[in-house]
Formats: sequence, structure tokens, C-alpha cells
Amino acid sequence: MVLFEDALNTVLSNAIQLGKERVGLSESLGRILAEDLFSDMDMPPFDKSAVDGYACKIADLPDTMIGAQKPVTLEVVETIPAGIIPQKNLMPGQCSKIMTGAMVPMGADCVVMVEDTEQVGENLISITRGNAAKNICIKGEDMMAGDLVLQKGIQITPAHIAVLAGIGAVNPLVSKLPGVGIISTGDELVEPWLKPGKAQIRNSNAWQLEAQVRSIPAKPAYHGIAADDGPQLRSAIELAMKNNDVVLLTGGVSMGDYDFVPAIMEEAGIEILFKSIAIQPGKPTVFGRRGNTFLFGLPGNPVSSFVLFEMMVKPFLRLMMGYSMAPLVLTLRMGIDFSRRKSTRKSMIPVVIRDGAAYPIEYHGSAHINAYAVANGILVMEIGTTTIQKGEQVHVRPL
Ligand code: AMP
Ligand code: MG
Repeated sequence: MVLFEDALNTVLSNAIQLGKERVGLSESLGRILAEDLFSDMDMPPFDKSAVDGYACKIADLPDTMIGAQKPVTLEVVETIPAGIIPQKNLMPGQCSKIMTGAMVPMGADCVVMVEDTEQVGENLISITRGNAAKNICIKGEDMMAGDLVLQKGIQITPAHIAVLAGIGAVNPLVSKLPGVGIISTGDELVEPWLKPGKAQIRNSNAWQLEAQVRSIPAKPAYHGIAADDGPQLRSAIELAMKNNDVVLLTGGVSMGDYDFVPAIMEEAGIEILFKSIAIQPGKPTVFGRRGNTFLFGLPGNPVSSFVLFEMMVKPFLRLMMGYSMAPLVLTLRMGIDFSRRKSTRKSMIPVVIRDGAAYPIEYHGSAHINAYAVANGILVMEIGTTTIQKGEQVHVRPL
């Protein structure tokens, strides 16, 4: 039995880099950027008005308008909509009506908001209220041409899409998605659209794993239910390994008479790198490698496969895609007193995160996947810890 940290290190140190591809802007959401990107222009590209109002000269305005005897009157020489180049340079005593986002005309060094002005003649306005703000976004204040704006290894979010669009990077280079084959094992399983007979249950793991893989995002390929039979299992594994970068198997990894997975892996020449981890749930997890193809044998219990995917398979797949960030771990207060009987393994406990605290969910062991339907985090309880008091600091991986 290996420590979880050691098992995770083994898994991560085996990750190989996948190829790269260019995708369209919309398709890049969630993908891992495989190139550094630099701005091709200054942003904003010109001095830009931040408000609707009048572009004018600070020198024409008194230091403070508050308490001024008479409002200042200025001649309006043109109207500048957004997207149009101003035609007039301002002379003393002049201003241009300007819209938000429009180019500030030559000779202007501030924009007075329309709310602080009054029309007093056909081409005359008076400024009724002073305002210290210049209301101009200076050319290049957000970024300069040549600035590094997005770094290789980030996972592209909607905010990154805005940045990509802003610099015209409409075909970003991203990592290819790992192909992940999924096999369920167990003679008791039927697919979810069928009514289980006596002594049967529905196959939930494959569909859960398929969804977990897709949400990374990686490319799932479902290879069906393999019977608890050596030769059938072997041929399912061979087919899945031939067509994918990684294969996820559930079930058949523990000590039962029909738990064939580790033996078949050995028979198939898959090097087993560990086959038991000091965690609860998920102890009989197996990890193996043959060439550049990897196989995780996850326990059949639905919670075990769910948690092991989150804690181990997901970081592995992301690393294969060149993701540069460590998984997010929150430090929270424990919401209630909590205890467990045995502390020989690291425990992964479903929790609800609320108001900065973690509340463990009532949970009846590793078959109880419904607990994870309400959980939004996984609390990690270390080896040797049997109790956590309300208010104590805990580490939680958000889901
Ligand atoms: P095993 O790891 O094969 O010993 O299975 C452990 C438990 O998980 C048993 O109760 C199985 O019936 C259950 N189980 C195995 N595979 C699945 C699956 N694909 N979906 C739901 N439950 C499963
Ligand atoms: Mg089984």
C-alpha cells in the first residue's frame, strides 16, 4: 500500500506531453493554451473617451467650478461618434461633443460628462459642475503592442476568450485532448436505460466517468461493460488501449474471486506502478503503463471512482495537456465537530461549502454516490487524524 501523495507523484511523473492543434476562438473554451500570446496593438489603440460628454481643454475650466460665479461657456465645433476620426483640432474656448469609446480630438485633454453641462445656444454649452476626472482612457494603458498577455499552460476561460478576441488570436494553439477509453466491469451491471433484473444494478460509473472526462475537457470513448471473465476483459482492455491515450476501468480490482483486473494487466504486459493506496475510499486503485498508454483500474464503488477521478485522474489528464496550475485547494473552517473511527488511511469526505465553512454530508460509504450529488467539495482528512473540531482549519478541493 502506498501513500496517496506517492501514488499521485507516480501518476504525474508518468504524464507525457500530447500534441498541439489550432482551434477556433469559440472551440478554445476550456482548452489548455499551448503558446505564449502577445498583443499585436496598444489597448486602447488611441486616447479614448470614457464617457458621453464634451472633449475640452482643462485650461479653459476654472480650478474648481464649485462656487464659481458664472458657468464656463464653450463653443461646440463638431460631434465625434465612436469609430470616427475627429476632424477638428480644439482651439481655446472650444469643445467637441464626444461619445463613449470615440477618439479624443487633438487639443483636448479632458472630457466633461454630459450630465455636468447644459446646452445654452445652437453650438454653445455651459459647464455647470466641476469634475476632477479627465475621463480619458490613455492609449496603451491596458496593454502595449508586444506585451505578453496570455501565458502557455492556462486553461482558457470566458475572460481569456475576450483577451484572445482583443488581440485577434482567432486560432489559438492548444493541446490536443487526451483520448480516454472507459470500460465498466461486472456481471451484475446493466446499462442505465434497462431495468435491472434480480441481483443486477445499473452501470452508473461509466456514464459518470464519461461526464467527468468530458468536463475536463478530454475526449471520452465508451467501450461498454466487460464481463467478469479473463479473456473478455483482456480483449476489451486491448481494444481500448489501442484507441486511446488513457484507459479507465471500474470494478474488478479488489480481492474477490472475480476481480481479474490486476492479473489481466500483468498478462497483457502492462507494468503495474501501484495497486493499493492508503486512502478511504479508493484503496484498491491500480495504475499501469504500457508504452505511452496508461490504465487506471478504479474500484467499482461509485464514490471511489468519482473521488479517484477528481483527485488523481484529472490532474494527470490536465498535466498531459500542459496545464500549469496546481488544483485549487481552499482553506476553510470546519462547520461541525466531526470524527471517524480509524485513521490509518487518508479520508476524502464529501462536504458542502457554505459561508466559508465546510459541512460534511451524511454519507454511508463508497456506494452512496447521492452524497456527491449535493457536495460541492472534497475534504481531505489526514492519516492519524480521527477528530476535527468545529472551527478548525481544513483543506477542501472544490468540485
Ligand atoms: P468491484 O470493485 O467490482 O468489487 O465492485 C464494487 C461495488 O461497486 C459492487 O457493489 C459493484 O456492484 C459496484 N459497481 C461496480 N461497477 C459498477 C458500475 N459500473 N456502476 C455502479 N456500481 C458498480
Ligand atoms: Mg465487480
